[in-house]
Amino acid sequence: MNAFVLAETENGARELCAGARQIADEVTLFTFGNAVTGVADKCLHLQIPEDAIADDAYPSVNESFDASGAKVVLAEPTVRVTSLAGRLAAHANTAAVPGVNALKDGVATSVYFGGTGVKESKPETDVSVYLISAGTFDGTQATGTDTVEEVEFKAPEKLAVKKGTAALPKSDIDLASADKIVACGRGFAKEEDLQLARDFASKIGAEVACSRPLSEGVNWFPREAYVGVSGAVVKPDVYFAVGISGQMQHMVGCNDSGTVIAINSDKNAPIFKQCDVGIVGDLKDVLPALTKAL
Ligand SMILES: Cc1cc2nc3c(=O)[nH]c(=O)nc-3n(C[C@H](O)[C@H](O)[C@H](O)COP(=O)(O)OP(=O)(O)OC[C@H]3O[C@@H](n4cnc5c(N)ncnc54)[C@H](O)[C@@H]3O)c2cc1C
Repeated sequence: MNAFVLAETENGARELCAGARQIADEVTLFTFGNAVTGVADKCLHLQIPEDAIADDAYPSVNESFDASGAKVVLAEPTVRVTSLAGRLAAHANTAAVPGVNALKDGVATSVYFGGTGVKESKPETDVSVYLISAGTFDGTQATGTDTVEEVEFKAPEKLAVKKGTAALPKSDIDLASADKIVACGRGFAKEEDLQLARDFASKIGAEVACSRPLSEGVNWFPREAYVGVSGAVVKPDVYFAVGISGQMQHMVGCNDSGTVIAINSDKNAPIFKQCDVGIVGDLKDVLPALTKAL
C-alpha cells in the first residue's frame, strides 16, 4: 500500500513520514515548505508562486495524489494543509478525520467535543485522510531517499485574488521538539510576572508555553505557544503547569507528557487531580525559590 503525506513544516514531514512508513510499503511526501529528504521514497516539492495562496495548490496536490496511487493520506494540521487536505478528501470522495493522535490497524483515535471525548474510527471508503496531531509519531524514525521532484503549480479555474499581505510576528517557539516545557496560565496577573517563568525555564533549558487565554485573550504569547485541544499537543519529558487550573481543553494537549508538575495557589484546583507532582503555593514565591535552588 502507498501512503501520501501532506506537510508544510520539516518536523511535520518527518513525523508523518515516520508514521506512514509503519503502515505503508511506499511513502510519497508532498510539501510546499522546504523540500525534506531522507524521510520518504519520493519528495514532491511545490513552490507556491508569490501572487498565489497555498489553498489554491489543490489541483497540483490532487493530481500528485492520483498519480501516487495512495490509499491513505497523513496530513499535518496547519491551517493551510488542513484546507488542502479537506479539498483532497472531497476529491477522493471521502472525509478528512481531524485530531488523530493514534493510528493502528486502520483505526484512527481522535479527540472530539473539545477534548472531552475520544473516538475510534475506521473509514469505509477506499481512501482515508487523517489530520495527525504533532507528536503522534517519532520523526527520528523516518527513513527514505533524497529524490526530490519539483511539481508545477496548476492554477484552479477560480483563483483567489491576493489583495495584500501583512507579516505575522515571527515566533521561534518549538514546542513539538521541546523535552521540557514551562506553561503559564491565568495565574499570572501581570505580563511582567512572566519573567519569573522565563528565568526558571532558562535555568532548566525549557521552552515557555501558555494556556489559551494568555495567547488569544490578552495576547501575551503568539498563537503557536498555547497548548490544548485547539492549540499544540505536546509530549515533553517534563511539563510544568504554572497558574493553570487544569481544564480538559488544556490538559488534552499535555497529558501525554512524561511528568506533569503543577504549581497553583488553590489546593482544590482540578490540575492537582491530573498531575504527578503538585506544589500548592503562589507562583511568585515558588518560581523564584525553584530558580534559586537550581
Ligand atoms: C472550544 C474550546 C476550546 C478551548 N481550547 C483550549 C486550548 O486549546 N487550550 C487552553 O489552554 N484552553 C482552551 N480553552 C479554554 C479552557 O476551557 C480554559 O478556559 C483555559 O484553559 C483556562 O486557562 P487557565 O488555566 O490559564 O486559567 P484559569 O482557569 O482561570 O486558571 C487560573 C489558575 O491560576 C491559579 N492561580 C491564580 N493566582 C495564582 C498564583 N498567584 N499562583 C499560582 N496559581 C495561581 C488559580 O487558582 C487557577 O487555578 C478552550 C475552551 C473552549 C470552549
